[in-house]
Amino acid sequence: MRLQSALLAAAALSAGVYLAQRGGLFHATPVAAQSSQANQQVTQCETLRKHGDPGTTACYERLSMSKDLAIKAEGLWGLRQYFPANDAFRDAVKARPKDANLRVRWGLLYVENSLPGDAADLFKEALDLDANNAKALYGMALVASDAFAGNAADFAEKALKADPSLVEARELLARIALEDNHPEKAVEEAKKALDTSNEALEALSILATVDWLDDKPGKEWIDRVFKINPTYAEAYATAGHFFVINRRYDEGIQYYRKALELKPDLWAARAELGVNLMRFGQNEEARTQLEQCFKANYSSPLVRNSLKLLDSIDKNVETFNTPTTILKLDKKESTLLRPYFQAELDRAMATYEKKYKFKIPGPVQLEVYPNHPDFEVRTMGLPGLGALGVTFGKVVAMDSPSGRPPGSFHWASTLWHEFSHVYVLSMTNHRVPRWFTEGLAVYEETAASPDWGDRLDPPSIMAMKDKKLLPIADLDRGFIHPTYPEQVFVSYFQGGQVIGFIVEKWGYDKVLAMIHAFGDRKDTVEAIEQELKLKPEEFDQQFLPWVEAKYKKQVEGFESWQQQLKLLSASAKAKKWDDVIKDGNAIRDLYPDFVETGNVYEFLATAYMAKDDQAKAMAELERYSTIGGRSPGALKQLADWQIQAGKKREAAATLERLNLIYLEDETAHEKLGKPYMELKNPNGAIREYQAMLAAGTIDKAGAHFGLAQAFNAANRPADALDEVYTALEAAPGFKPAQALLRELNAKQSGNVKQ
Ligand SMILES: [Zn+2]
Repeated sequence: MRLQSALLAAAALSAGVYLAQRGGLFHATPVAAQSSQANQQVTQCETLRKHGDPGTTACYERLSMSKDLAIKAEGLWGLRQYFPANDAFRDAVKARPKDANLRVRWGLLYVENSLPGDAADLFKEALDLDANNAKALYGMALVASDAFAGNAADFAEKALKADPSLVEARELLARIALEDNHPEKAVEEAKKALDTSNEALEALSILATVDWLDDKPGKEWIDRVFKINPTYAEAYATAGHFFVINRRYDEGIQYYRKALELKPDLWAARAELGVNLMRFGQNEEARTQLEQCFKANYSSPLVRNSLKLLDSIDKNVETFNTPTTILKLDKKESTLLRPYFQAELDRAMATYEKKYKFKIPGPVQLEVYPNHPDFEVRTMGLPGLGALGVTFGKVVAMDSPSGRPPGSFHWASTLWHEFSHVYVLSMTNHRVPRWFTEGLAVYEETAASPDWGDRLDPPSIMAMKDKKLLPIADLDRGFIHPTYPEQVFVSYFQGGQVIGFIVEKWGYDKVLAMIHAFGDRKDTVEAIEQELKLKPEEFDQQFLPWVEAKYKKQVEGFESWQQQLKLLSASAKAKKWDDVIKDGNAIRDLYPDFVETGNVYEFLATAYMAKDDQAKAMAELERYSTIGGRSPGALKQLADWQIQAGKKREAAATLERLNLIYLEDETAHEKLGKPYMELKNPNGAIREYQAMLAAGTIDKAGAHFGLAQAFNAANRPADALDEVYTALEAAPGFKPAQALLRELNAKQSGNVKQ
């Protein structure tokens, strides 16, 4: 998975919005619903359900006819009649506004239906009424856990403090530990839950899952599960969840199928099955599964949005096949995107095939989404924030450059990042810790080209300054359950640095050896001990000083750089150009990676231009481009200056960089077509003039004429003739086109004579 840069995500983060909400997972409904004596009836039904008793439905039917609205709501919920249950809870809360437990139950209904926002509101209201309500605290823990938030475990601990016998809070701690890739801790928590209740089904499911993930039979645990409840399909759904978040999608799908064989109306599991089939490109069966959920009134946002996406794919997507690749593009931009995407895809695969010494069996698939919400649906239910690309086995889904603000997204870098995952996942049979595959993918971005990849960002600088980098053995936690909002970005940064450190100290072959160690089912600690001959703590003792020394200048100079940049910006606003030049040169190299809006390079270029020094202005923007600057405006300006200075080759390189960032700008393609003709690269020019047309230029005659010239130069006279006619159709009096037509005709009649 590739994230948007920290700065761009900052707005979403500060609003506390987690973009990728895990959806539709099963949560065991806690027993002992409410407090009053009426709830004995509810508890009775829950006990029947817990044991998979065939009388469960009849029990809930009785409740659903109760005159007590709260009991009626429980009955309808038990029958999975979610909408009427919701109405009944609403009425019940109106009648008993001071009942905290009632709000908690209503909230849990929302959790089951993947509506975490509404659920959290209700838990908070319950806590306002009763600050120490263990179940409300547990509810908060569930919501946080659903969003993979770092405070989930804190809430669960608080709930246990308020009520040490709250077994579901203990089970949740086991679940969180396993998500963090700490199976030993998960086992410990699950066993504690079993000490509290020997019928803790979710704890038993976690114990079975730990075994299954480790390719062990898990029989001891699953037998115990089925002895308590012969139809407890949720155990398999839990396993499905863990296989999916470990990127073992194939096996995850198998576990969801097993769950549904046992309990066909376990809708949350069916929704997950549908979504994972869709991720794998098995859209037809995905639709059937999701429609079944929808018809059963289980229409969580995950189900609704996935169905909508499937409709949109059917209507809008065009597919291009080669023997090794399947490229899926939106019809409205496929002509423009295809040549660039196919070229990068082929280049990435050829590079990785050599680097990783591995050939992917069967074709890979790349899907490109111009509509970011469509793409988000593809990533729902996975940990992470604001993803740009996601890999599902051999299927990669990513944003289109048109789906993001121009200049904010290096699409080629993202493509290479995801395809590193495709190789590493294939090579390890999906047995690779998250920190390693993410770290390697980040490393590969800048290995492909130093100006690609995320630049060193302020959150990572602050993390180094505050000593917040994680021990290597614990790095996965930073990706799955961040304890501060920027920790996910920092963990990507750290992962990339770890791989860079290994390459520098031991060589790239050790990275390959570690991939194979993970494939042999070694974990992080074992892989490091085996390949680097170090204990993980020793690794940390070497790595941390290395990375701190590498970025010492940036970390130590950060605050002063920040203050001086503010002054610089003020000087630029006041047009005090001499100050801008003096101060800009003084601070630029304190933090050279900063190329976002308000960067020193652009201030300096503006100042030099104001003083009529185009050569120096150009040199600043060249620095900006080399270090990874991405603003289309600045890059086009740079190309113009380079052309004026006779640096055609450099101008072409600048515009090629822009093509990997933003493709929608027809003027940029026109700018690149011309130097390519002069540099005797007619094929490059053909691609650019075709892109100019596909991007919707209003100068159709000019584009067709440029294309005609390029075809002529590429020795394709028939294509050239077609284009020159089209140019003249658009502009009959277009003199240079008329001249080219005469030239082509003369050439052709010459050919006929020969
Ligand atoms: Zn990734």
